[in-house]
Amino acid sequence: VVRPADVVEVAAVVTACRAHHVAIVPQGGNTGLVGGSVPHEGEVVLSTARLALVGEVDRAGMTVVAGAGATLARLQAAARASGVAFGVDLGARDTATVGGMVATNAGGLNVVRFGAMRAQVLGIEAVLGDGTLVRHLAGLRKDNTGYDLPGLLCGSEGTLGVVTAATLRLVPSYDEVATAMIGFESVAAAVRAGAALVSGLEALNAVEIMFDDGLALVAAHLGVALPPASRAPAVLLVEAAAAEDPTADLADAVASLDGCVAEPAVARSAADRDRLWRLREAHPEAAAALGVVVKLDVTVPLGAIPDLHRRVRAAVERLAPAATVLLYGHVGDGNTHVNVVGPGVDSDAIEDAVLAIVVELGGSISAEHGIGVAKRRWLPRARSAGDIAAFRAIKRALDPDGIMNPNVLLP
Ligand SMILES: Cc1cc2nc3c(=O)[nH]c(=O)nc-3n(C[C@H](O)[C@H](O)[C@H](O)COP(=O)(O)OP(=O)(O)OC[C@H]3O[C@@H](n4cnc5c(N)ncnc54)[C@H](O)[C@@H]3O)c2cc1C
Repeated sequence: VVRPADVVEVAAVVTACRAHHVAIVPQGGNTGLVGGSVPHEGEVVLSTARLALVGEVDRAGMTVVAGAGATLARLQAAARASGVAFGVDLGARDTATVGGMVATNAGGLNVVRFGAMRAQVLGIEAVLGDGTLVRHLAGLRKDNTGYDLPGLLCGSEGTLGVVTAATLRLVPSYDEVATAMIGFESVAAAVRAGAALVSGLEALNAVEIMFDDGLALVAAHLGVALPPASRAPAVLLVEAAAAEDPTADLADAVASLDGCVAEPAVARSAADRDRLWRLREAHPEAAAALGVVVKLDVTVPLGAIPDLHRRVRAAVERLAPAATVLLYGHVGDGNTHVNVVGPGVDSDAIEDAVLAIVVELGGSISAEHGIGVAKRRWLPRARSAGDIAAFRAIKRALDPDGIMNPNVLLP
């Protein structure tokens, strides 16, 4: 494991590894969910832990330059201290890093409002696989001077180079927050409601979907009681945020939704809000308490979500009848996290069945976690031969000896 302290040392590590034909795995917080940040065949781990500086917030330009190793929580705290916010948030915030989030094009809870990482990165500094330093950190909103290197490195999963810093867009801090949990009679009703909220509620920050079986498991895991609104076949957790209290707007939007089964649970305090969010964010740990979890992260067009859920449950029932299926996700983006755990689970068989359904429904086999090692064999089913040839050409150009994360992404 090498822990360079600055970009010059990163370049020296890449150059030395290249000279000795040794492969490198960049590692940030190691919270990635597709195995991309761990060495599989004796690669050098390049840890970004020491590249953790967060620069001064530029209030006028609404940007900040952050080192690759800065955690999301530190970045959020720096933004908050200057009265602004960062537009991406996710459950791994205390450990996930800026570099890892760029490299996976992380999405998270607020994509419906602010977009994923690619929409936040205005400038990038990186050492490419051939040792070249690229640095363009000015962070201008308008800058049409050639190829979009930040866009290219977003989602590159460490296969093209090591991201060392990024200039990130900041967003206004909306301090007035309203949060509600709403139960629906069916998946279809919840998805329709999610779509209506995305188009009709300007202050919408997040709209997450959960189900009765998952919530029951989470409640048992946490040892808490569920609010009545969450005892429904499908449940949305909705959050609006604005400069002025958005509670009335949220209440109006909720009142116009069809298919609700009970009074919504509305957070009256920060503690209430944390309790509602805990029910959503504890889904991964409740699943993990049951054993080794097969985790898939997929998107389908919004209208296909009910079909996806029905077919995934049927496929798991057929392949591993004693297994537990947990479905949850960011419904505004069409994103479902599929977790399968329990006796008789053959991960390859489950993956093949679920991803085949996703491809048939016109979806993506990776919504936000990336391809990594875990989904590499599936990439040719998800992208055309032409796309993959272009990926390979880019990889050859920027990493001619193939030393950057060679077991990841490309089949
Ligand atoms: C509880 C939990 C909740 C999560 N929720 C979400 C969510 O809502 N949305 C979401 O998108 N993800 C989520 N994730 C997944 C994960 O947090 C993200 O993928 C995150 O972006 C990974 O950041 P990291 O610093 O941990 O990267 P790592 O895991 O260290 O690395 C991930 C990949 O990026 C590469 N990489 C890391 N740093 C660099 C660098 N500086 N330069 C080049 N390549 C690099 C690695 O080689 C690897 O391929 C969650 C994970 C957990 C555990």
